[in-house]
Amino acid sequence: MLIKNARAVNLDDRLHSIYVNPEGIIECIDCMKKDGEVIDAQGRILLPPFINPHCHLGYSMTIDISRHNITGTLTEGARIVREETSKRINEEELKQRLSKIIEILFSHGIFYVRTHELITLESNIALKTLKVRENPLVNIQVVTLPATGVMEEGEDEVIKTLESGAEVVGFVPQMELNYELAVKSVKKAFDIAVGLNKLVDGHVDETDDPSSKYTELVIAEAMKRGYGNKTTISHMTASHSYDNWYFHELLYKLVDSGVSVVSNPMVSLYLQGRYDPYPKRRGIARIKDMLNKGINVGIGTDNVMDPIFPLGDYNMLRVLNYAFIVDHFSVQDIPLLFKTVTYNSSNILGITDYGRLEVGKKAEFIILNERSLSDAISYTSKPFLAVRGEYMVMNRLESSGVIKHD
Ligand SMILES: [Zn+2]
Repeated sequence: MLIKNARAVNLDDRLHSIYVNPEGIIECIDCMKKDGEVIDAQGRILLPPFINPHCHLGYSMTIDISRHNITGTLTEGARIVREETSKRINEEELKQRLSKIIEILFSHGIFYVRTHELITLESNIALKTLKVRENPLVNIQVVTLPATGVMEEGEDEVIKTLESGAEVVGFVPQMELNYELAVKSVKKAFDIAVGLNKLVDGHVDETDDPSSKYTELVIAEAMKRGYGNKTTISHMTASHSYDNWYFHELLYKLVDSGVSVVSNPMVSLYLQGRYDPYPKRRGIARIKDMLNKGINVGIGTDNVMDPIFPLGDYNMLRVLNYAFIVDHFSVQDIPLLFKTVTYNSSNILGITDYGRLEVGKKAEFIILNERSLSDAISYTSKPFLAVRGEYMVMNRLESSGVIKHD
């Protein structure tokens, strides 16, 4: 297959042709070898694949088998997942649902995800996900996400799941019963991670409460262990409500630690501000300030069509669109924003060889439907083409134009 006239914006911004052989290897670049299909990209943008650094595949798209979340709060949604939905998920059901989700992810140009999978005292979605995650289209990295009390009473189950292949240790301090247990859960997560040589990614300060300050605890624990580049803080929505002086001091600590942050602007916008009268807070992490300070920030989708968030579609351009609007980005920031769903998230997941377009390497790239990054986050269309090894998907958006019907 020959793909011609693709514009490599993150390399030299010039048009290139790429020949991918039937085994999925890039055989030559800028040659015009023509056996097989020829696809003319007509100047569309060539990028490395998208990475979704924060989602919950295990109970994604379970809205139809779950009770509705009447209040729309994270608290009610999490309870429904924990007490009802998670009990209905068995390996077979998960396998079928996941294979559908994997096709959706791939069609959106997402080849890598980090998924946070729930472990309660009664059920272990993380372990089930590990058993059914293998597939040729999307690499699925699993985080153990403990329900309230599980770091205290279900530690063995967490360790078993990590020993079975989960790559990342999770924790949710603000959901533990009190401050003492919250601190203990964070320290324990780091001890487990260091002991088993795993990465760390917690749901940290996912609240509007400005007194929720577990981010600084995570920073300190990561620094103590030299674990900054293996640690991620997800959400950090309380930072929206922090006193400005405190937040700017926190930025320096984040920089010094090397810890990454993941924000999920679309879902945070929906879940936060729930107890506010008008005007309501936006309740998202301060993405722009952190990016400008050089902090490695990734942007994810978080929940999709589940009891916590009823909408969503795994469209990374849509979450960038939300981030752009909600955190007041400008046109000149757009290339930086694209890094959050590509290179920055690659650092978070620890992907080696990401984004290398080289002869002899496995093909791994996407071509967007638009010809500028700004158009891409405006239209939020599925990519024109996604190629991974021997697999590809094309999303043609050809309109007939306006005609008179019969
Ligand atoms: Zn989450």
